[in-house]
Amino acid sequence: MIDFIKKLFSQEGKEKDLVCGMMVDPKTSQFNSTFQGKIYYFCSEHCKNQFDKNPEDYLK
Ligand SMILES: [Zn+2]
Repeated sequence: MIDFIKKLFSQEGKEKDLVCGMMVDPKTSQFNSTFQGKIYYFCSEHCKNQFDKNPEDYLK
């Protein structure tokens, strides 16, 4: 059980959703965008759309 919780909150191998700030698992995320040759992952279509509208705003 403790291992399960550790896994759940582990940020290992995860990417940050630059729009809302939560950690996203690239292996399970369906929402991603490529910008300047790098892939960014998002928790939802909403965050992806926000990023796509103005990627530079989120990369500062
Ligand atoms: Zn998000």
